[in-house]
Parts: sequence; C-alpha cells; structure tokens
Amino acid sequence: MATKALYWERVEGGVRCKLCPHHCRLNEGQRGICGVRQCLDGELLSLSDGYITSWGYDPIEKKPLTHFREGSVIFSIGGQGCNFHCDFCQNHRLLSVDVPRRPVSDEELVEAATAHGSIGIAYTYNEPLVNYEMVLRLAKKMREAGLINVVVSNGYIELEPLHELLPYVDAWNIDYKFNDPIYRSVSGGGEEVVLRTISEVSAASHVEVTTLLIPGRNTQGEVFQGMMERLSTIDEEIPLHLSRYYPAYRCSLPATPHEDMFRCYQIAKKYMKTVELGNMPL
Ligand code: SF4
Repeated sequence: MATKALYWERVEGGVRCKLCPHHCRLNEGQRGICGVRQCLDGELLSLSDGYITSWGYDPIEKKPLTHFREGSVIFSIGGQGCNFHCDFCQNHRLLSVDVPRRPVSDEELVEAATAHGSIGIAYTYNEPLVNYEMVLRLAKKMREAGLINVVVSNGYIELEPLHELLPYVDAWNIDYKFNDPIYRSVSGGGEEVVLRTISEVSAASHVEVTTLLIPGRNTQGEVFQGMMERLSTIDEEIPLHLSRYYPAYRCSLPATPHEDMFRCYQIAKKYMKTVELGNMPL
C-alpha cells in the first residue's frame, strides 16, 4: 500500500521531499535516495508504509539500550530503505526496495507488541525514519495501548518531522558515526545534523548513542577525540556504546583491533560518564 507522504512540496515538474536534509528533488516516477519515497501523479508517496521485512522479540539491551527498562523484551520490526549508503552496512539487504516483505496492519503490530512479555515496539534494523508516516501513526497507537516506542536511527532527519514524532518516543538509540568529512564521503550524511538530532531527543526522552569503531575512519586519536568533545557538549550523561566493526557488505577492512577498541574507550571515558564496549569479548 503506497500512502501519501508527509513533509514535501510541489516544485516545477515534480516534488521536493523535506523529511531529511537530502531534500530530494524528484520528477514524476523518480524515487529518493532512500529508495522508498516516490513522485507519482504529482504527489510524494511512501512505498514502504504497511510492510515489514523483519521482526522478532529481542532483549532491549540488543538495541542497544542498557539504561532504559533493563531486562525487558521488546517486539522489534524492520522495514525497507535508508537515507545513508554506508559501504559497511550490516543490514544492507534491507536497503533494497525489492527485499521480500510482508503486508501488516497496525492492529496486528499493536497486538504483537504485547506478546511474549514485550513492553512495546522498537523500530529498527533498517533506517526507520524513511518510513516516517508508518512510524508516526504506529507510535500514537502504541501509546494509546499503553506501550513503549523505541527508535533506533541514524539521526538524519529534519527538525519539523522530528519534533512531531518526539512526544511519542520513549527511548532512542542514535548512531554517531564519524566526523563531518568522513560522514559526507562514506555515508552521504552530515555530522552537524546527527548531533542536532541527539541534542533534540536528549532534551525530550531517553537517548543512548552508538559509535561503530572502524579502523582508519574514526579510530584515529584526534578524529575520535574531536567526536567525543562534541558529543559531551550535548550531555556527558548520555550512555555511549562503542561497537566493534567486522567486514560487511562492500567494506573489506579488517575487523577493528582490540587495542583500538580499548584506546578509544579510554579517550571516551575522559568525556562521557558511561561508556560500554560491544560486539567483542571483554
Ligand atoms: S527521506 Fe528519502 S526522499 Fe526524502 S529527502 Fe530523505 S532520502 Fe530523499
């Protein structure tokens, strides 16, 4: 079911999407960088609304959220598409608009979010905010049913749609990947927007941040230290997860050496109060 999208405007010969800072300018029939928003009959449609590609019941610590409702189980769903195109993506299968998907109703998802002791729903696996309309609508319904909403995101969204969603989200995990030049060259995003999102959500709800440490991209002393300085100016109390990179998708760099993980941990601890290493044996 393609539904009419929110946050766009008509322009000469097509539309401009205003959901994320890419501001894709789309002629009739074209899709945005995320692959799931398309200009059809002079309107912007969301092609992924009403579908899921993956689901499961996870410990909330797997999101990762280790300082919010610890020990809980949360129903987790993934959709399609992403507005970043990282060469190391661990969920690259979900970038494709042709990935097998299953239609699902809001009512089915609300019911599933109460099963197996789940406290609510986590929008995760792909970049959930490119399916903004479904997330916003579902988040309101989950709230009405007394359930929790968790969003795991790259944080690349415009302020207006973020503000509309914020009151319905109980907890976020935002990826903070790189400094600005590397964000632009590797992910197609920008550091300033991601930090702005972390700042906005931290003022409204619980947030934890994840940084995937990739050798030579963000593990160099001065690069990583600069990132930690900027994150700590938002709030040094935000729990930070440092996750170990392993080769995936189109990135064949070797896995992050343990010594780089521990060195970055020591740097991070100078700026942030709670730092946890993930994806590696301690
Ligand atoms: S959400 Fe998708 S279509 Fe809209 S601006 Fe971002 S990448 Fe482009």
